[in-house]
Amino acid sequence: MTGSQAGYTRKCRFCGSSLTQTFVDLGMSPLCESYRSQEQLSKMEPFYPLHVYVCGKCFLVQLEEFVPPEEIFTEYAYFSSYSDSWLAHARSYVDLVTKRFELSARSYVVELASNDGYLLQYFVGKGIPVLGIEPAVNVAEAAISKGVPTLVKFFGVQTAKELSSNGQRADLIAANNVLAQVPDVNDFVGGMKILLKPGGVVTVEFPHLVRLIEENQFDTIYHEHFSYFSFATAERIFAAHGLVLFDVEEIPTHGGSLRIYGRHSDDGSKAVKDTVPRLKDQEMAYGLDRLDRYTSFEEKVRETKRKLLEFLIRAKREGKRISGYGAPGKGNTLLNYCGIRTDFLEFTVDRNPYKQGKFLPGTHIPIHSPEKIRQERPDYVMILPWNFKDEIVQQLHYIREWGGQFIVPIPEVKVIS
Ligand SMILES: [Zn+2]
Repeated sequence: MTGSQAGYTRKCRFCGSSLTQTFVDLGMSPLCESYRSQEQLSKMEPFYPLHVYVCGKCFLVQLEEFVPPEEIFTEYAYFSSYSDSWLAHARSYVDLVTKRFELSARSYVVELASNDGYLLQYFVGKGIPVLGIEPAVNVAEAAISKGVPTLVKFFGVQTAKELSSNGQRADLIAANNVLAQVPDVNDFVGGMKILLKPGGVVTVEFPHLVRLIEENQFDTIYHEHFSYFSFATAERIFAAHGLVLFDVEEIPTHGGSLRIYGRHSDDGSKAVKDTVPRLKDQEMAYGLDRLDRYTSFEEKVRETKRKLLEFLIRAKREGKRISGYGAPGKGNTLLNYCGIRTDFLEFTVDRNPYKQGKFLPGTHIPIHSPEKIRQERPDYVMILPWNFKDEIVQQLHYIREWGGQFIVPIPEVKVIS
């Protein structure tokens, strides 16, 4: 199939070229954060194509936009503060940048998609003035109630202009795990350019495309994530908006992310570190400047599905009981793509009370509190948020009392005794 059907052409969200090359087609899937209530189970449920393309010109890996962002983000169930290791990550980031960029009570820190204030609270604790910008009303309210000033808005050029004309330009703009979720990446990065003070720094974290491909993390693909970045593509996008990336770090979050540091292109005070050319060379060596590196991904994903189903079918034939752990977005992509419902996973559990008592979208697997695992004593617990697997194995060490084992589905099915 080509990009044109009855005059309709898919366009790259960055450079506007036609999108014709498939990265991976995961079929039809519901919105991964649209947890269902008991009453909703007997109603119609919308599914949207989860078909990822790669731009042949700028190599931005991306989904088409099917769902208005307002629908996805206005009541987002994800509260960052429910993970211990995520909070630890936020705290160490705050310590690092405060020291490196000498932030003080005279500085101004703005976080884009500030969620429940999980990160800005640590700046507040140091007496550094902050502003969170967060479009999901319920999540923003949680931030405000813990003393983190938060503007309930989508961020882009318009919001940046309003803040800027109000004298609220930032010494530090933090955008962690939001760039992928921005439908209009040019509007978002263009807004950063306007919001940033002369001499200021932007830091952005996003999952690294190299890790996604290399470690087969296809379950990190969902409708809420419109784009998947290499460093080279991110650099191209920032450059188009007058921002230079002067440093980059590889960090372990979300299965392997990049933290990029940007500044105004005319800011001579921060030289480009050699981490930048080094990472670009690595990406070239990995083949990210060749289309076949992208188009060969799909077969790897299909093989993972076959192997996981083989394992689960065998376990069920042996009479084993299997539960899930966690109800993350990535779990929903995996379960829907593989067709795993209560026929394999009896239930799953999550620490987030917002999700408890609800059902996973599409697969309708019930979500309970973690206590359920102790009551039901399943033979296997499949860890859906595999990026937190060490933390979860530790938390659930007691399943070994009855011989329980953990299943980690990605990069390929692995059992931990
Ligand atoms: Zn493009």
